[in-house]
Amino acid sequence: MLAKRDTHGLWPLFAAFALSGGLSLYALALARANHSPVALWLANGALVGWLVQRPLVRAWPVLLASFVGIFAAKLYLDDPLLQCLLLGACNVLETAIVCHVIQRRFPNITPDTRFTDLARVGVLAALAASLLCSLAMMCILNWWTQMDVLMVANTLFRAHFVGMVLSGSTSLVIVTPYLWRAPLARIGILARDLGMLAAITAGVLVEPRVPLVFLVYPPLLWLVFRHRFVGMVIGVAIIALGVSLATTLGIGPFNLVVGVTPAFRAVMGQVFIGVTCLVALPVALALSEQDRLRKQMQESELRYRLLADNSGDLVMRIRANGDRMYVSPSVKDLLGWEVDQFQRPRPDLIHPDDRERIAAEVVRLRMHGGTTTATYRLQHKDGHYLWIEAFARLVPSPDGDGAMDIIYTGRDVTERVRIEQALMESQSQLRTVTDNIPAVIARIDMNERYTYVNRYVEHVSGEVPAEIIGRTVHEVRGNALYDRLKPYLERAYAGHTVMFEYETTYRGKPMHFQCHYVPDRDAQGKVRGVYALTNEITHIKNTERELLRIAHQDSLTGLANRRYFSERVPAFLKQAQQHDIAVLLALVDIDNFKTINDTYGHAVGDVVLAEVGQCLQKLIREGEIVARIGGDEFVVLCNDINNIKQAQAFVQSLWERLHMTIDTGVAQVTVSMSVGAAICMNELSADAVMKFADDALYKAKEAGRDTYRFLAHGFGDNDGNDGNSGNEQIKLRRVQ
Ligand code: GH3
Ligand code: MG
Repeated sequence: MLAKRDTHGLWPLFAAFALSGGLSLYALALARANHSPVALWLANGALVGWLVQRPLVRAWPVLLASFVGIFAAKLYLDDPLLQCLLLGACNVLETAIVCHVIQRRFPNITPDTRFTDLARVGVLAALAASLLCSLAMMCILNWWTQMDVLMVANTLFRAHFVGMVLSGSTSLVIVTPYLWRAPLARIGILARDLGMLAAITAGVLVEPRVPLVFLVYPPLLWLVFRHRFVGMVIGVAIIALGVSLATTLGIGPFNLVVGVTPAFRAVMGQVFIGVTCLVALPVALALSEQDRLRKQMQESELRYRLLADNSGDLVMRIRANGDRMYVSPSVKDLLGWEVDQFQRPRPDLIHPDDRERIAAEVVRLRMHGGTTTATYRLQHKDGHYLWIEAFARLVPSPDGDGAMDIIYTGRDVTERVRIEQALMESQSQLRTVTDNIPAVIARIDMNERYTYVNRYVEHVSGEVPAEIIGRTVHEVRGNALYDRLKPYLERAYAGHTVMFEYETTYRGKPMHFQCHYVPDRDAQGKVRGVYALTNEITHIKNTERELLRIAHQDSLTGLANRRYFSERVPAFLKQAQQHDIAVLLALVDIDNFKTINDTYGHAVGDVVLAEVGQCLQKLIREGEIVARIGGDEFVVLCNDINNIKQAQAFVQSLWERLHMTIDTGVAQVTVSMSVGAAICMNELSADAVMKFADDALYKAKEAGRDTYRFLAHGFGDNDGNDGNSGNEQIKLRRVQ
């Protein structure tokens, strides 16, 4: 209170002046009476308690007033002026040091302040400041007196240090109102206990024969125990007053010591007061610390109790026997039960399917300690079940009986569990669907690692999903296939949907696949993986091939048909031109085939066609084409014949070999052929080449059949072609 009011008006300055002056006068007068350098010096400590809660810069007027007070007291006792000034300054310095040190460490002293720490800092600061000032004072006093300097320093130090601790703690208690509240509330008891101490102190101090002075400690400690700092401060003050009076008046136990000076008795009195203070102070500090901790604990308990009471969760403290020491009122909202209906263990409310699991969990928690969480069903008073997510921790019981309690917190998670169950169900449905789709469905993350693959993969490659999930595409598919898949994967990672086909071998079987890579994007549209849908298309590919084969094959002879021939000729011609080689196209037509049909029947005609086809097939080499392009008309296309001579030899050989007698099973049929051949250089038009060969064949037929005609084109003068494309100017060279 003083600390707050002292900024207004002059009265704090008068108070400081009066306090310092009065206490200095008392101490100096007492010392003079005892012929001692100084008695217990209370002036500085009294000021410390007052000023300790404000910065030093704001305290200087009060310190100045105190200086004036001390100065005036000394001057009043006729001390030299300079000595008064110097010693006054030393005292102010001592006060300022202690105030500053405490103020820096404890800017605000509140009910939460640890008084033990405050006392430690204060005592150390008082020790240092007293030592410093007593040495300074010793030097100053040495100018004016012839006293033993060491004795002076020793006495000064003791008087200042003990005085500082005593009056400092007293004044701090006086200016700290909350320390007064409780004792003042029990003022009657305080007065009774103080009276008891005063009586015992008076008794032991007037007792002239037996030194019973230590009998003051029990009532003092009782006072401290009952009234904390207030008890200590007033108790020590009563004892200090009594001892000072006794030593000054020369009565009491201190007088029993014979052969000592009054000054020495005063010193003994000071020592006793100091010891008394140092006995009472730690007890007061320890008790106040205990009070502080208890209060803190009560407050935190209250806070948590408040939290628990107002929480929507169910909070319980459960004893070892299952009794609930605390059940939060939320049990009513949550489960419909009243708190008192929930005070006993209620295993009957746990869903029968969960009961065993929860009981085992409780046993485990009690055995191993720590924490546990469990989700289980509890029955509402209405009869329906709620899903509860419970968190439990084993803690020592606050009852201090060594037992362990369970702190339980449970919350309603029914909605969440329902959503999870629905999600799991839909996931399971989706899995069933994907596992039964006749395609491999996989998800690959950004590290090319499979995160999902459906069961169909087993059907395709023989691998089970568990063997694939977690491994990379490279690891699963091997080097060769990975190299083929990688470019598509990269495109999908870049955000494109890609579709491609590939062929590979699984379990020795060549297989075709069609694959779709679809980017998997997060909510922001960023690609976070790739979905791969792979269909096995081996059967389609095989069918395609078969259809192609059928489309390109003559069913009767097994040779290529006209369609295949027509499709291949342009590429054939182009290739020949690129490699600067000639192309030979020979048309082969069976002579008078109609007659064979007419004579032996159509079936025999078919046999003849097939035999001729086989014969032609045998005559050609790899890379050459033979096809049946009409009823009894065949074509041979070669590109490794480089000069006209070679061409003539080939055509002649062909024509000769096709003279044959075929055993048709019905009759021996002798067939002859007419062959029209064209050898062309640098000719790109299939029609033109065909036309050349057709003309040659026409000539062969015209010449009476069973012969061949040959035409060279694009070989310059030697081939007889003057470059004019007119048919009449093409010279056919009859070789035979
Ligand atoms: P030429 O010497 O002038 O060639 O007289 P040709 O009798 O052989 O007459 P052409 O080549 O014009 O006759 C072809 C005949 O082949 C006509 C047709 O009845 C017959 N033919 C066509 N396709 C088939 C077939 O698949 N099987 C049989 N057996 N005969 C066929
Ligand atoms: Mg014919």
